[in-house]
Amino acid sequence: DDRWLHLPNRWGIPVDICAGADVPIETSAVEEILTVLETADTLARLADATGHGEAGVDRVALTPDLHKGAGIPIGTVLRTSGALIPQAVGNDINCGMRLETTSLDVDRVRPRLDALEGRLRHLFFEGGRRIALSGIQREALLRDGLPGLLAVPGDPASGIWSQHRPEDGRPGRVHGERYPVTTAEPFRDWIDSAGGTSYDSIIGGVGGGNHFAELQYVASVHDRQAAYAWGFELGQVVLMVHSGSLSLGHQANADGLEQARRAWPASVPLPDNKILPILLDERNEAALRRYLDAFGNAANFAVGNRYFLSLMLRQGLAAECGDLTGELVYDAPHNLLWRHDDGTVVHRKGATPAGGYAEMAGGPYAMWGEPVIVPGSMGAASYVLRGHGDPRTLASACHGAGRRVPRGAASRAGDAELDEFLAGFRVVTPLDHRDPAVTRRADVMAAWRRDLKQEAPWVYKDIGPVVSSLERAGVADPVVELRPLLTVKG
Ligand code: 5GP
Ligand code: MN
Ligand code: MN
Repeated sequence: DDRWLHLPNRWGIPVDICAGADVPIETSAVEEILTVLETADTLARLADATGHGEAGVDRVALTPDLHKGAGIPIGTVLRTSGALIPQAVGNDINCGMRLETTSLDVDRVRPRLDALEGRLRHLFFEGGRRIALSGIQREALLRDGLPGLLAVPGDPASGIWSQHRPEDGRPGRVHGERYPVTTAEPFRDWIDSAGGTSYDSIIGGVGGGNHFAELQYVASVHDRQAAYAWGFELGQVVLMVHSGSLSLGHQANADGLEQARRAWPASVPLPDNKILPILLDERNEAALRRYLDAFGNAANFAVGNRYFLSLMLRQGLAAECGDLTGELVYDAPHNLLWRHDDGTVVHRKGATPAGGYAEMAGGPYAMWGEPVIVPGSMGAASYVLRGHGDPRTLASACHGAGRRVPRGAASRAGDAELDEFLAGFRVVTPLDHRDPAVTRRADVMAAWRRDLKQEAPWVYKDIGPVVSSLERAGVADPVVELRPLLTVKG
């Protein structure tokens, strides 16, 4: 049918892509799929050399926002058995989307957007942040994730913490228990502030490029029951945060690749595509432990960072619009791996989990399925859907609309379209583009414009066909449509 593309291959591995005919897929990304499949050869050679007959790639699923990555395309879900592949996770370990409701209505917030813009710029970029963590808190976050951090007694009244609510980090009406917590041995380098490498100076950073912290509102409701269950109301202001593990994930993945090199048997030639799996074998125990610790530290940091970014949005809103309440709808990781008891490993690189009843059984999301957060672009709509756990996608969906125009081409576009966009939309960046002291600096403005052009709505696919291909393929159904009020980029 027109919603599924099954790609036959000489390895006989099921490769499915769910995308309607109206969703363009880059040819270069399709070519990269071959690279993914060549890893089946790599694993076969490793298995031969080490007596691991069970090791292999057993399914690949590709999402409608598929686009070119480094080796493995973004939008790839890859299940292996007997091995894990650090490079199938994406460098920004545990990059993800966090979505929270608020008690504010769009009519209350819209007239205050001018003031909010200034306040958020101060909070995000001009030193207004003040997330002071003690060494014990830093360590707890890396070791046990957000619940670990919140279990450390501290002074919740100061700075950004004043927006912390007692129910954070605990299962509420629907939220909380799917934080991708992995217990990990904390890396000293990332805790100690003495060495200058502590993450204290980066926590609360958005992370540049396509990362963002956005104020949105519920513009339409597609599934009233699920929307109600998840705390959505028409016209309600919500917060969406897209961010990852900043430099920690990149360091952890570089280290993971190094571990994979060390674990590589001398008798097997290195694969041409440079994608190096690590066999789940006791001989590789030290390499695996080290990688999984670094991976866990970074993953835990990312969830904490998204939490602080949403507190910062809340603090700005509270200061301009009055006290607010709200709940976490979901925190959805899209660069992560999941190890299962049967020895299989599901890797998602730029793909979000979209479990259904079976995957969510016994938890607060069982009734409606897993919340699937699909952002469009700055200035365009975003969607929340509910997952159905489709086995062809390995219970996954796209994590965005996906890039349509490569960065290089995007930055060469003219200024007129960008100016028109900026006149109608509010974007908060480290640089105040209305400040005359800044506008005088032609070089600074040109660099700023180039960055924004790479993120403009027209460089991303239309969210509409992306969402409807998920729906028509039976992967996930829309619950609410969200529209942006203001985007913090930077
Ligand atoms: P990635 O995780 O690959 O960096 O990007 C995730 C997705 O976020 C992109 O495919 C795009 O659809 C979406 N996106 C990028 N920038 C923005 C933004 O500023 N606001 C919203 N709502 N979505 C964005
Ligand atoms: Mn990221
Ligand atoms: Mn991301």
